[in-house]
Amino acid sequence: MSRPLVLVLGDQLTTTLASLRDLPDGAVVALCEVAAEGRYVPHHPQKIALILAAMRHFAETLRERGYRVHYSALDDPDNAQALMPEAHRLAALYACDEIRVVRPGEWRLWQAMREQEHAALPWRLLEDDRFYTTPEDFASWASGRKSLRLEYFYREQRRRSGLLMEGEQPAGGKWNYDHDNREPLPREPALPELPRHRHDDTTRTVIALVAEHFGDHFGSLEGFHWPVTRRQALVDLRHFITHLLPDFGRHQDAISDREPFLFHSRLAAALNLGLLAPREVCEAAEREYLEGRAPLNSVEGFIRQILGWREYVRGLYWTRMPDYKRGNALAAHQALPACYWSGDTELRCLKRAIEMTRDNAYAHHIQRLMVTGNFALLCDVSPEALCDWYLAVYADACEWVELPNTLGMVLHADGGLMGSKPYCASGKYIDRMSDHCRHCRYDPKRMTGEDACPLNSLYWRFLERHAEGLSANPRMKLIYGSLARMNEEKRQAIRHQADAFLANLDRAPAWAEDGDEQRRRHLAGYGEEVV
Ligand SMILES: Cc1cc2nc3c(=O)[nH]c(=O)nc-3n(C[C@H](O)[C@H](O)[C@H](O)COP(=O)(O)OP(=O)(O)OC[C@H]3O[C@@H](n4cnc5c(N)ncnc54)[C@H](O)[C@@H]3O)c2cc1C
Ligand code: SF4
Repeated sequence: MSRPLVLVLGDQLTTTLASLRDLPDGAVVALCEVAAEGRYVPHHPQKIALILAAMRHFAETLRERGYRVHYSALDDPDNAQALMPEAHRLAALYACDEIRVVRPGEWRLWQAMREQEHAALPWRLLEDDRFYTTPEDFASWASGRKSLRLEYFYREQRRRSGLLMEGEQPAGGKWNYDHDNREPLPREPALPELPRHRHDDTTRTVIALVAEHFGDHFGSLEGFHWPVTRRQALVDLRHFITHLLPDFGRHQDAISDREPFLFHSRLAAALNLGLLAPREVCEAAEREYLEGRAPLNSVEGFIRQILGWREYVRGLYWTRMPDYKRGNALAAHQALPACYWSGDTELRCLKRAIEMTRDNAYAHHIQRLMVTGNFALLCDVSPEALCDWYLAVYADACEWVELPNTLGMVLHADGGLMGSKPYCASGKYIDRMSDHCRHCRYDPKRMTGEDACPLNSLYWRFLERHAEGLSANPRMKLIYGSLARMNEEKRQAIRHQADAFLANLDRAPAWAEDGDEQRRRHLAGYGEEVV
């Protein structure tokens, strides 16, 4: 009889995981905390604490269910501190004859594991069936299509899942209610208090461990509030469904100077770790619509994020890697502005998004896309530098979802595979969708001069710089028409303003010294070298 070592990764904390089913008697389930995975980018301490605390609780759950579990703790003296060597060490320790693992969340690991499939100690790789679609499903949807737009994929997903369908037709007669979902916030939005999860001994120990080992990383551990067990994740789900979902839709695009979470669910981290299943979350939301407790625009908007976007970016990732990661269609080569690691900037919108990120390991989608993302796009930040930052700083960050969102959606570096145009914006957009500008030293209505919002001149500079590639895009015709109507004197003044701002922008050093070593190893997985 075979004796597998079943390796369960930190984002596979689901009791029905494919590798945990039908195990032979001698099987050993291994969960491994290793320093290398915590350092190849400088992950936010809350993100590391969340993953380790959730792993430790999950190991307990498995033991209670009768599994034989080996748990490698970060400070175990014989821990190999890197995933593959640690798995091999444990397989030898328990005399296992194969290592079983479900598809990980990063191509780098997947590739390394695939190379072992026919080794003396073979790795058996299983498909992750916790999603609505597999990479194979996505590939067959994409095959032969000229354009891979989300909207068509999403309709197919609605038909396949039956979510919000009335027979063959979408509920309410339309597939997408986005045009109802663009309201700014009222001055004092009434937001319910968030659930506070009690920290037991396990969670407290992990928080102390992370403070000791990763306290030098960007981000505060104070106010750690993430759900670390399935039970806590279900409390967060219930809270969202009951108190926030009805308003999720209309304020989905709004940004607040004070409130980090607004009507967003904060469920991405629990979903990505496997504490919640996408199906149960979508079905819970659908029920609210069917039973008349939440409006269709909110429920459809929310389900689209999970059934549509989440599945879509995953499909893109797995079918396009590793080339996808090398995309740089707009030839952006600058380093990240230093303020991304300090929050030290006079641009109020940017400062608040970075501060909220530092405090909570969270920023909502529009902050990621239209504030930190847009500023990096306008400042020519390289995809690599920006992707590393996003992968590091958010509790929900996993490469399969972070990379397409950052490289594709924010930076348009995949040449338009994911979005038909870049989401570039000037200060006008931020002023419309937030209350930041009221607290800012800059004026969103001014283009030049000392008080002018820097986003304005950067925006026009960006359009000029990429006119050759973007001006023929039908969705950008209007804006390039405005640029064409500007006289040369005005254009020059704007150029001068933007160049002066960029010349004074403090850029972050490439990487911290010990991070460099981890990073070299990480990129070695892509056949790249760090210079
Ligand atoms: C630059 C950038 C980087 C991102 N990196 C990540 C990441 O590493 N991990 C991650 O889970 N999401 C990422 N997103 C998507 C999205 O911003 C987050 O899922 C969301 O902000 C998480 O907060 P929430 O749970 O409150 O989401 P809500 O606003 O409540 O949305 C509900 C759920 O829908 C899903 N979702 C929403 N938007 C997206 C999207 N664009 N792609 C995939 N799933 C989506 C998430 O599971 C989320 O929990 C990124 C977006 C951008 C623009
Ligand atoms: S004025 Fe410009 S920099 Fe200041 S908050 Fe508004 S958009 Fe941001």
